[in-house]
Amino acid sequence: MKGFPSVLENINDLNLMQIQALLSLTTEYKKKDIDLVESFYEGFKTPVVATSFLENSTRTKHSFAIAIQKLGGMYIDFNAETSSLKKGETLEETLLTLKHQGVDCCIIRTSVSNELAQFKGNHPLKIINGGDGTNQHPTQALLDLFTMVENHGDLKGKTMAIIGDCVHSRVTHSLVELLPQFGMNLILCGPEGYIPESIDSKNVSLCDNRDEAISKSDFLYLLRIQKERHTGKEDQHFATYHEKYGCSLDVLGKLNKEISVYHPGPANIGVEISADLIKSPLYQGYKQVENSTYMRMAIIAAILSNRNISCQLELNGDDARIKKGPTGL
Ligand code: ASP
Repeated sequence: MKGFPSVLENINDLNLMQIQALLSLTTEYKKKDIDLVESFYEGFKTPVVATSFLENSTRTKHSFAIAIQKLGGMYIDFNAETSSLKKGETLEETLLTLKHQGVDCCIIRTSVSNELAQFKGNHPLKIINGGDGTNQHPTQALLDLFTMVENHGDLKGKTMAIIGDCVHSRVTHSLVELLPQFGMNLILCGPEGYIPESIDSKNVSLCDNRDEAISKSDFLYLLRIQKERHTGKEDQHFATYHEKYGCSLDVLGKLNKEISVYHPGPANIGVEISADLIKSPLYQGYKQVENSTYMRMAIIAAILSNRNISCQLELNGDDARIKKGPTGL
């Protein structure tokens, strides 16, 4: 995709047109629902894409791995635990080494917030942020957006409460940047320490009362308590969390709100969500997981196709594939 950033670190790295193009491409991939191995890179050098996850992950890493292989790319799982990073090598040196081995793009997860910003404008290779500390998780927010548009159509004027540990949630930080661009209003809801003290945005408000936030919402987004990122007294809410902020069919029923419930996973049953709600048709978590592969295929295709200006991605035709330019990919 022409003009697509070489380092996708933050939602704000994308403009609205690029986000719309990603939504269209994701729709194409989902519609086809086939492996594109045969057609996508026909006649091109096979792209080599690595994941380097310096923090735990189930969903994100696997869906990237599947996406790369569905696109016909060569997938390398770069194991950071057994790499030279453990011998004191900097992330930049490691990435330069991968580049010289022929890796075109690396998806990185790190526990250090903003660690990837240093590569903007001076990137060793293409980089996609797979989640950095408490800062950003742009690909999660984009696949959430796709799922919401698929479920609800036009999002303009819709209100969604994000209930949970918003302060420590990188997903929340990306959603707050993304969803208001589509006309949505967000309510960040949670106890003290889980929501910011103030927020400077006309589309985002704060609320410490679960039922009030749910009553105002068209759908909900629940979050896990991000215990591994707590440094102070945030854990004091744990014992009473389910009662005060957890969601169940009973809570939604009493408020007469049979509404969709999103969750980025991993979900902690009995804390932010009850067993009956997660098993109910209101729960959208598995649909988010299903869509994650298609959105991540679109993101990888977009970032790779910008590798050579002679390669353009056809976004509108039936056949979403990279056109071969004079020099190939
Ligand atoms: N999987 C998401 C993340 O990596 C959400 C979470 O861990 O709670 O941020």
